[in-house]
Amino acid sequence: MTATKGYAAQSATTPLAPFSFERRDVGPHDVQFDILYCGVCHSDLHVARNEWNGTNFPVVPGHEIVGRVTKVGAHVKKFKAGDLAGVGCLVDSCRDCDNCKKGLEQFCRNGSTGTYNGKDKISGGFTYGGYSNHIVADESFVLKISDKLPLEAVAPLLCAGITTYSPLRHWKVGKGHKVAVVGLGGLGHMAVKLAASFGAEVTMLSTSASKEEDARRLGAHHFALTKDPGQLKALTGKFDFIIDSVSAAHNYTDYLNMLNTDGVMICVGAPPTPSQIMAFSLIGGRKSLAGSLIGGLPETQEMLDYCAEHNIVSDVEVISMDYINEAYERMLAGDVKYRFVIDMKTL
Ligand code: NAP
Ligand code: ZN
Ligand code: ZN
Repeated sequence: MTATKGYAAQSATTPLAPFSFERRDVGPHDVQFDILYCGVCHSDLHVARNEWNGTNFPVVPGHEIVGRVTKVGAHVKKFKAGDLAGVGCLVDSCRDCDNCKKGLEQFCRNGSTGTYNGKDKISGGFTYGGYSNHIVADESFVLKISDKLPLEAVAPLLCAGITTYSPLRHWKVGKGHKVAVVGLGGLGHMAVKLAASFGAEVTMLSTSASKEEDARRLGAHHFALTKDPGQLKALTGKFDFIIDSVSAAHNYTDYLNMLNTDGVMICVGAPPTPSQIMAFSLIGGRKSLAGSLIGGLPETQEMLDYCAEHNIVSDVEVISMDYINEAYERMLAGDVKYRFVIDMKTL
């Protein structure tokens, strides 16, 4: 076992604070790497505060992890010491069910293992995430990272990037499509960049008037302020697709009304409380309400390679580890431009 330093929440109501734990020794198929940067996802906050229930404390969040390999097991083929490496939201799955065989490990029939708060099949405890100084994972769940892009800005691709890339690819969004993105945060800003790079006409739907200029700089062609009922109404029937990345309860019907005939609204945001919808808002116009969860390992690597080729990264604010509790408060206030990333040297 290797002594590891991290930051953990001890309960839903305590701020994150320094925490020491142990990681397993490097097994024959394992890669161990020093974590250089870890992105801060709103899911980290939901879990640290037990907003979805089911958090096992203490919890070390973090699933947008990049770093440099220090050690590999005897059977590891993809990595050697000194390589860049990444870990996203998953560190294991059964690898045998139909979904795993299709590269949809996030939908493993036998339960995939989350990078944190997951049942660790090897240690028997719960997994600890990337707010820590190093990690050990099976090479099948470790991603290759290009050295062409700034590493701190690559980290958020491991969750915010793949979570928006995957539905855009699944629904084949591109040229000729009108796409709206709801919520300009970590996921939202990646959805704008990726949808624009796939050739779609992108509209940003935000509650923050101050984000309009940024939305356009990130690639949005249009911007609407969702607090203004007049602006919402003007968008009735406009979009082929809507990517909803909102983290808190909101009215889905407002957005379903903006779908064109046969349009699809895809929820990636995961508010902790349910929302009501009227079936009528789907029936008229044969609309669909769908969801999407991160992405499997092959698609995550495809996304990282696509971003390296097209020079797409996250817009980040690099923070020190001890700023994390303040960062959570700013995230709740919608004050993120557009992803906090922890510089792990500061741990
Ligand atoms: P984030 O950076 O905090 O961004 C969320 C954005 O939503 C905010 O910046 C804000 O944008 C908007 N918003 C917040 N509260 C709102 C409200 N009450 N009404 C309307 N808009 C509101 O969060 P994130 O990291 O992008 O994550 C977003 C959600 O996706 C979280 O629930 C997270 O758990 C979930 N998530 C899901 C997956 C998946 O696989 N499906 C993966 C990762 C994260 P504006 O200021 O522009 O309005
Ligand atoms: Zn995430
Ligand atoms: Zn499986």
